[in-house]
Amino acid sequence: MKYIICGTLIDATGTVPRSGQVLAVDGERIAQILDQVEFRPGPADEILDYSGHTVMPGMIDCHEHLVLDMGDEAAQCSQPDAWLTITAVQNARKILQAGITTMRDVGEKNFIDVEMKRAINAGLIPGPRLLISGQPIIRTGGHAHFLGRETDGVGDMRKAVREQLKRGVDVIKIMVSGGMSTRGSRPDSQEFATEEIQACIDEAHRAGRPVAAHIHGGPGLRVAVEAGVDTVEHGIMITEDDVKLLAERGTWLVITHGVGEAAAADPGTPDFYRAKINRVLEGSLAVRKWASQYGVKVAVGNDTNHCRMDMEMGALLGAGWSPMQALQALTLRGAELCGLDRDLGTLAVGKLADVIAVAGDPLVDRSALLRVRLVMKGGAVEVAQ
Ligand SMILES: [Zn+2]
Repeated sequence: MKYIICGTLIDATGTVPRSGQVLAVDGERIAQILDQVEFRPGPADEILDYSGHTVMPGMIDCHEHLVLDMGDEAAQCSQPDAWLTITAVQNARKILQAGITTMRDVGEKNFIDVEMKRAINAGLIPGPRLLISGQPIIRTGGHAHFLGRETDGVGDMRKAVREQLKRGVDVIKIMVSGGMSTRGSRPDSQEFATEEIQACIDEAHRAGRPVAAHIHGGPGLRVAVEAGVDTVEHGIMITEDDVKLLAERGTWLVITHGVGEAAAADPGTPDFYRAKINRVLEGSLAVRKWASQYGVKVAVGNDTNHCRMDMEMGALLGAGWSPMQALQALTLRGAELCGLDRDLGTLAVGKLADVIAVAGDPLVDRSALLRVRLVMKGGAVEVAQ
């Protein structure tokens, strides 16, 4: 048995943090949560003493790309696959060490994510649990055309989805609107025709897979949501009516605020990219406020601004989330979005032991999320400082 002595325990169920608790981990799962006064370890037990730290669930990043770093994405994608894979291996390690134990990869070049997931699951390289989407589906010349599967027409759309399913993806990713990081792309344009979007969702749902739609704003939001899309990614330019529609339909919104803020401030960001972000960044606060007000289901993603869950938490706090609600967006909500909340997202007996310890109290100071001292994934210790 492994025992984690917790200074403060935030189980992320929404109950108040508790002190004097010990988490008992048997194999890959949490066996018991006991009071420190009842704690009687045997000589063979392993003790992880985090009595000066806050212990919480491993974080869940619902929108990332292992192969991409912030900046000129077209230039990065022109590198050979071997180089992209090395980048992905580096990022997977960094992301896990930052306390992100589950990550939804929403699009990689040439199915690199398929092999990354295989290598992580086989224990060849360290990395978070991955949910993968294979190649993002993009109309010819559309947003991130350098990254994904260019697809045109209903028949080709069905084929593109089937190609992803054949490779064993967990989720289908479609670029419904234009994007920031592609030169000449308008983030509020609807890139696919309505029938193409409907065909994508129909094909994925018949195979039991959800669809994640990249949508900054514009008419594509209503089209995709009415066609039954499962998650809207980014949504930084959507209207109040769009937000109400998400709430009515129970469609998830994955907020990726930090990457915009970071890219706007980074001198390495291409000028066209920075100009587009600067036009919309301020207005996106209203979207987050409406999402809170209307009760939209929200999770978060770093989207190339790797490992900065503190920035996502800040974006939610600034829009009216309580510290506990914001922390749950980084943990429990992510698990719900991924369909993994039976096993992940909170610290409870019977769940998988994805556990982290941070220095400080993240409910008071979100920078504590940058000071990760313990990372346990499925009961295995990945970081212990
Ligand atoms: Zn993305």
